[in-house]
Amino acid sequence: QHPDIWQQLQTHLGEWVIQSKAQAPKGHVATYIPELANASEDSLSICVMDGSGATVTAGETDCLFTLQSISKVFTLMLALIDHGEAVVFSKVGMEPTGDDFNSMLKLELVEPGIPFNPLINAGAIAISSLIGGDTPEKQIERALAFFRDIADNPSLAINQAVFKSESDTAHRNRSLAYFLKDNGVLDGEVDDILRVYFSHCSIEVSCKDLARMALVLAYDGVDPIRNKRLIPRRYVQIAKTFMITCGMYNASGEFAMNVGLPAKSGVSGGILTIVPGRYGIGVVGPALNRKGNSTAGVHLLETLSREFDWSLF
Ligand code: GLU
Repeated sequence: QHPDIWQQLQTHLGEWVIQSKAQAPKGHVATYIPELANASEDSLSICVMDGSGATVTAGETDCLFTLQSISKVFTLMLALIDHGEAVVFSKVGMEPTGDDFNSMLKLELVEPGIPFNPLINAGAIAISSLIGGDTPEKQIERALAFFRDIADNPSLAINQAVFKSESDTAHRNRSLAYFLKDNGVLDGEVDDILRVYFSHCSIEVSCKDLARMALVLAYDGVDPIRNKRLIPRRYVQIAKTFMITCGMYNASGEFAMNVGLPAKSGVSGGILTIVPGRYGIGVVGPALNRKGNSTAGVHLLETLSREFDWSLF
């Protein structure tokens, strides 16, 4: 379809990765979840996948990492599948906050005290409570089955060390969740809901898994490789809209300006992005910039978007 782009990627992706490692501003791995501090600070890898499943990769592509906030895009779509738009948007709003991802500042502001959007922690915790299943175990099973299906990888699993590390230190997420409980946003026990939330954040993937998951979003919910619809188009449209407006934390405006593609990052340094109708892209570089995004990963995506004129705007 675009043989020139593919050929350019094959020729240059490796050198662009080296360039981004050298030129991106210095970053640091997240340490507030102690287990994440073990990631290698200067690694960077990328996988670009086209609609046939062909890939171009560069960097340390065998490294595994946890999805963290990237999982929120998928749990949002799962909650929409399980409950529909009316219920989901009675629990979370549709607007960016301009605050940090774990902020408490604006929880009181949207009527009736619901989180601003489903990608900040407070919103994602509310979304976790909406995943179908009578018990937290069944909800976790349902989420894992959904992620495995989207990634077309039945061996995706929860990294238990990361799960435990987050669960043991999540004082702030606990307080957010109790606040939501008090506001009447959460049905069910706070500890159960957080268990579901920490579990989907701790699902471990490779760059290639991430690109494979992105591909389904790039094709509006259809897996082009198996030629099978996995997610209703409307729910992918909702997810992509949030990816543009709040997917890159408080740098979402800057990323929209400089890259111009729907994307979601996580504190493990992963970034999932798409070129609509064409490619799914997975990137991981654990060193984060001040806004919490992979510093080398953002630099690399800026290069690609500039080279290939990928901005949607
Ligand atoms: N599990 C992480 C947390 O709740 C996800 C944060 C992120 O990736 O932004 O703090």
